[in-house]
Amino acid sequence: MSRANDFLGMVEALKNVAFPTAIVEATADEKLKICLTCPHGKNGNRCETTAKHVSKVTGQTITSTGGCGCSFTLLHRQGRKKCHLNRW
Ligand code: SF4
Repeated sequence: MSRANDFLGMVEALKNVAFPTAIVEATADEKLKICLTCPHGKNGNRCETTAKHVSKVTGQTITSTGGCGCSFTLLHRQGRKKCHLNRW
């Protein structure tokens, strides 16, 4: 993912926050539902860069990396940047 693409995604997100549409908000809701089930998104506000979760198989605590650190408000209202873990 290039920085230019990230920048353009941020511009798109800011436009969509300022001028929301039904389709963008519906898509954002769907992405948020997925993120809230992810160890990186449990705080409900942003994609944490690292997250801890308990393995259902081993019961051990696992530290996962790969979250982007972005605010959900912006991340979910643009179409250029994808989930780094390919969940959406
Ligand atoms: S963007 Fe991806 S990695 Fe980040 S919280 Fe959402 S589903 Fe998890």
